Amino acid sequence: MYKAPRGTADILPQEQGYWKYIEEKATALCHLYGYQLLTTPIFEDSQLFARTIAGGTDLVDKEMYIFEDRSGQELALRAEGTAPVCRAYIEHGLFNLPQPVKLYYIGPAFRYERPQAGRYRQHQQFGFEAIGAADPALDAEVIEMTQQFLFSLGLSGFSIQLNSIGCNLCQPKYIEALKRHYSNYIARLCPDCKVRLLRNPLRLLDCKKGPCQQVADTAPKITDYLCPECQAHFQSVQRYLKTLDIPFQLNYRLVRGLDYYTRTVFEVEPQKERAQSALGGGGRYDNLIERLGGKPTPAVGFATGIERLILNLKREKVNVPSLPKPVAFIAYLGDEAKIEAVRLASKLRQAGIAVIKATDDKSLKGQMRQANSLGVNYAIIMGEREVKTQSVVLRDMISNAQKTVPLTEIVGVLKQEQKST
Ligand code: AMP
Repeated sequence: MYKAPRGTADILPQEQGYWKYIEEKATALCHLYGYQLLTTPIFEDSQLFARTIAGGTDLVDKEMYIFEDRSGQELALRAEGTAPVCRAYIEHGLFNLPQPVKLYYIGPAFRYERPQAGRYRQHQQFGFEAIGAADPALDAEVIEMTQQFLFSLGLSGFSIQLNSIGCNLCQPKYIEALKRHYSNYIARLCPDCKVRLLRNPLRLLDCKKGPCQQVADTAPKITDYLCPECQAHFQSVQRYLKTLDIPFQLNYRLVRGLDYYTRTVFEVEPQKERAQSALGGGGRYDNLIERLGGKPTPAVGFATGIERLILNLKREKVNVPSLPKPVAFIAYLGDEAKIEAVRLASKLRQAGIAVIKATDDKSLKGQMRQANSLGVNYAIIMGEREVKTQSVVLRDMISNAQKTVPLTEIVGVLKQEQKST
């Protein structure tokens, strides 16, 4: 027996309503804020992620799906969405367009993580990126867009955590201070944090282990180390958020998992108990385009996982619209009726009426059972008599009322019924 690989999931038809709902809301949101869809390949040169995310992050050290293709080139399945968008921005000269260029994506990301609720090895990310503007009002707009997206889905149980992690000028001084602090407590640190201290000290603040958190509690705060420009930027972002009436919590320990961020970082935390970690996160990444070989270009964006949104929609008991069902089921009895049924099914579909036709010459009872379980509004029944009179029996599956309708009128009748339901 084959099974879907560990950490992946089939999305069965009954779940698809959530996916369609979220993708429609995402698309509407992006339209509202002037973002255009960009679709990038599922795999990229592995260095695209390794260079941008940098060593010392779990994503690069442990979680990438890397493989060699037949020519020996090292490729990686898309680990996250931002680096590919930036690569495409440079590759297609999008810097020649009026800035910022606003792009969004919806597609799978792959990470070799320990699977658990809301954490998969393949998950679907929706993200948006505004590339080519340094204005703090844009950071606030991206956070507003995030909030409006979650509201539009019907989610309300979340908080927005905000921090600034400075720039090339001020961050190194902070990291030195952080290292000095942590060096006093090396014995207490978990093995991962011992590595982080050497390779990616900012991530020390993010460790969820008790003893490491105690060390983080007394660690210096990045906001005390920001240079005047970063400080002013951070204050401005907060001012715009207040202008927009967007509640946020300052969280000096928020550093985000990927280390290309500069200045603004934010995360959306679900409030419910047992909630899986972040619903989404984003921030500014003013050095990323340059790291990829482009000109220095400021940018800001956000990403979220569809599976985690669905988890929260279910937790908050949000009803999503069901997917459209076929209007009618066509049942038949006898060979002659079967030929008429085949013809009728085709005619109805060509007229834009969704129908399912019975197969395999089942008993009428069996066909009606099938119609019931499909949840259609109508059954169209054809037997010998109907063939002779060139008509059908139209049964309302809810009231069980039946009427005979001439074949020539059935399209019109069903169209009328479709309109009134
Ligand atoms: P990141 O790129 O790590 O900031 O992730 C962005 C968002 O994607 C997260 O906030 C989650 O909503 C979602 N996400 C990240 N990793 C996973 C995963 N392994 N499984 C499901 N969702 C994920």
